Amino acid sequence: MSLKGKTAIVTGSNSGIGLGVARELARAGADVVLNSFTDNSEDHALADGIAAEFGVSARYIRADMSRGAECRALIEQAGRCDILVNNAGIQHVAPIEDFPTDKWDAIVAINMSSAFHTTAAALPMMRAAGWGRVVNIASAHGLTASPYKSAYVTAKHGVVGLTKTAALETAQEPITVNAICPGYVLTPLVEAQIPDTMEKYQMSREDVIEQVMLERQPSREFATVEQIGGTAVFLCSDAATQITGTTISVDGGWTAL
Ligand code: NAD
Repeated sequence: MSLKGKTAIVTGSNSGIGLGVARELARAGADVVLNSFTDNSEDHALADGIAAEFGVSARYIRADMSRGAECRALIEQAGRCDILVNNAGIQHVAPIEDFPTDKWDAIVAINMSSAFHTTAAALPMMRAAGWGRVVNIASAHGLTASPYKSAYVTAKHGVVGLTKTAALETAQEPITVNAICPGYVLTPLVEAQIPDTMEKYQMSREDVIEQVMLERQPSREFATVEQIGGTAVFLCSDAATQITGTTISVDGGWTAL
């Protein structure tokens, strides 16, 4: 499978799943655009590292995915977008009545609305190029719920809805739109939830991982960023040409329960 000559833009990709997906797309030959809201030398060094390791072109472009205009500007600045991976995301955990409004707004903007803006900007480029793939990183929480994650669950269900709608709008074109729904992947986003959960349940780190997080995941193993990246590469392959408007779970059986 070669993605040589394709340009992939991965939002929120200086860490975790986004970086893992960008690396797997580059391994398959795609030129990649990394993104986050920071503009540190480390961010640009990540792109340089991918370029050197995989022999592709790699750039870092700063854009804040909580702002619609910046989402669209990211795509315009990249200049080409054959593969769009909407991955940027944050989390906040609180009961609905205590959920801070600013956190709700940020989660809905970054985890959901950003995908609307980037997709709107990318589809004309994909049409002009005669080929396109949109891969939305949703979540098992795009298909099921957990208490205290109202904004996240709402946004991820919204991403699945956007995926289906965009797939129908492009169904007769050489463009597909799908969502990957990971279960737990041990990234900084998940690491950040461990201390609070330890305190809440008075548990050790190991017990939080085993009894709270992986309790939902029948395989009892975290999924890896390489597995999510490999699934994205598959969705960009010729074999996936008739796969559109659907979700692919990479969750160790979570949503089979
Ligand atoms: P992470 O914290 O490692 O990565 C999140 C990325 O989003 C980072 O690169 C961060 O810089 C970026 N980001 C955050 N706010 C941004 C903003 N305003 N503008 C641009 N970029 C921004 O977390 P992760 O676990 O790799 O999460 C990546 C995606 O995968 C998220 O959408 C998350 O919901 C989803 N996901 C994660 C898991 C998991 O278990 N880790 C499971 C299912 C889905």
